[in-house]
Amino acid sequence: MARIPKELVDHIIQTADIVEVVGDFVQLKRKGQNLWAPCPFHNEKSPSFSVNPAKSLYKCFGCGKAGGVVQFVMDVEGTSYVEALKYLAKKYAIEIQEEEKTPQQQLEQNERDSQYIVSDFAKNHFHRLLLNSEEGMSIGYGYLKERGLNLSTIQTFELGYSLDSWDDLMKAAETAGFDKKYLEKTGLTVIRTDDQGKDTGRRYDRFRGRVMFPIHNISGRVVGFGARTLKRDDKMAKYLNSPESEIYHKSDVLYGLFQARQAIRTQEVCYLVEGYLDVLSLYQGGIKNVVASSGTSLTEGQIRLIKRYSDNVTVLYDGDAAGIKASLRGTDLLLEGGLNVRVVLFPDGDDPDSYIRKVGDQRFTEYIETKSQDFITFKTTLVAREASNDPVKKAEAIRDVLHSIAKVPDAIKRQVFLQQTSATFGIDEQVLITEYNKLVKSPTQQTKPSGGDNRGNYGNGAGSANTGYPPSSNPRSAPAARPMTDEEEAEMLMYGGAEAAESLGTPFTAAPKKAAEEEETPDMLQVCEREVLRLLVLYAGREIEPEMSVAGYLMGQLGEYPLTKPLYAEMWEICRQELLAGRFPDARLLAQNEREDIRQLITDLATERYEISPNWRTKEIYVFNEVDLPQLACDNAVLRLNKVHVQRELDQCLERLRHPLEDAEMFEILGDIKRLKELDNELAALLGTVVARGT
Ligand SMILES: [Zn+2]
Repeated sequence: MARIPKELVDHIIQTADIVEVVGDFVQLKRKGQNLWAPCPFHNEKSPSFSVNPAKSLYKCFGCGKAGGVVQFVMDVEGTSYVEALKYLAKKYAIEIQEEEKTPQQQLEQNERDSQYIVSDFAKNHFHRLLLNSEEGMSIGYGYLKERGLNLSTIQTFELGYSLDSWDDLMKAAETAGFDKKYLEKTGLTVIRTDDQGKDTGRRYDRFRGRVMFPIHNISGRVVGFGARTLKRDDKMAKYLNSPESEIYHKSDVLYGLFQARQAIRTQEVCYLVEGYLDVLSLYQGGIKNVVASSGTSLTEGQIRLIKRYSDNVTVLYDGDAAGIKASLRGTDLLLEGGLNVRVVLFPDGDDPDSYIRKVGDQRFTEYIETKSQDFITFKTTLVAREASNDPVKKAEAIRDVLHSIAKVPDAIKRQVFLQQTSATFGIDEQVLITEYNKLVKSPTQQTKPSGGDNRGNYGNGAGSANTGYPPSSNPRSAPAARPMTDEEEAEMLMYGGAEAAESLGTPFTAAPKKAAEEEETPDMLQVCEREVLRLLVLYAGREIEPEMSVAGYLMGQLGEYPLTKPLYAEMWEICRQELLAGRFPDARLLAQNEREDIRQLITDLATERYEISPNWRTKEIYVFNEVDLPQLACDNAVLRLNKVHVQRELDQCLERLRHPLEDAEMFEILGDIKRLKELDNELAALLGTVVARGT
């Protein structure tokens, strides 16, 4: 990856105005010290997406997306860190010299640049030929016109035509001064080999006499081509695609996404079709939120791309059964990716392209709206029909559907689907649930959990036996009563209600908990570590007394490696290194760190309390005015962390006492306990004075 010098990265970040950058994508309205808009990352009516200009941060209180200006560009444009920086540099006319690259990296970067440039050249060349050469006009343009495409669509998608010649592109590229190796690397020319696979030194154009469909990546650069022959020759593949190259990874590109992304966001749904022409016809008909997986079966990378713009996908299937069966697997992947999948089936013999040309835009849209079905329902009906009278097939079909259901991340939806399936197949629901549980328990079905929601078994819990339904009262399977996230627990405990405050003041010797509850007990150690880290990151440079900064104070109180959670410890170390280098850690810069988990942590820490939610107003008593009283906030955090450590040691001692011991050992432990209890009381007393001073 190309490296941009750190000073330049800092300069870009300091220059970029988050309000301007975000304002390119959503309408921000000022309310209080922040600006608000409907979130660009999830569907909502009332704005919960906020921008804090002072801290140069954004945060959505709906979906939780948050970060700095670079992260915003990455999220909204779906680009890498470096590409996001380049985007900002371009916006603010900052010249990027990527000088820190090693010669090898430089070479690679030049290689890639050259491949982009040669692809762009080829695209322009083909486009010119389509509209300006006799062959292109009569054959290529003639074909596109016959398919109903107008000039505007042809230009939007930069369609082209390759002459029926062995070396037209090679010659043109040579004249333009391109090194032929870049044509080879991008697969625009083919290297002719002999029987032993040895290079014969001969080259020829890969695409000859074909209509050319350039494939753009998300930032609009051409990375490859799809090409359709217009000859009637059975030996020749109708469609030919660029091979994989350094710039073209088929599994990470969706045809049409560059042109469709804004529409997908505003329409809140992405239509997925199979062919280039489907995309073009629908786009021309005003249905612009459409992409194609361009000749490959759908991949996880492509699904992630879609998910950046919408959670909803409607798959538009061609009407023939074989095609549908082939695409079912890809659709399971969509479910697994957490997308809401609907399906539209076209009448036999029609594909989206032919159908929209037959019935027109208006009726096509109506058709999609009225005929779209939820995917599981669709699949269930399909396989149930096929297996209607064959018990073996039927059992297979049911398992097939259950596999799909297991991939749905949402527990409530899974429950509804199980009910539906039972109705469609005419099978007792309890039998189906038993079958489902077998399936999710079997090791082959141990899919990686996506979305944090476990695909828990149904019907095993107490109470479910009577109803035969998944136990909706079980908080583990019902999202309505989902367990709190770590952050919520942390919030509750640090600033939460009276119970939380009490539990902080007294030793944690509550009655031993049942195993099931223990899982949900928040880790106080992490809560306290997080608070220390938050103060360090947010107030590093603040003076709490003459010549003593928050950072210096915390480092002095807690030492070099005080935090046990690995991510926190790394963060602490990053801050420590900054201090050693003579700088105070700066949340604004740290929030642009190259590592995603670090970025996420920083922005979470920095945004946790900048918007005091209405709920907190009543609990303000526990929220220190840390801006005015940083010393108290630091003391509070340090004391709490120490207290947790003491408490843990105490617990360990008590635990050891439960086992048979030699007398000497037991006295030693009892001595420890006495000492620790004194320490604990001291800390509690100190905490009491801190809390008293702070409130
Ligand atoms: Zn959001």
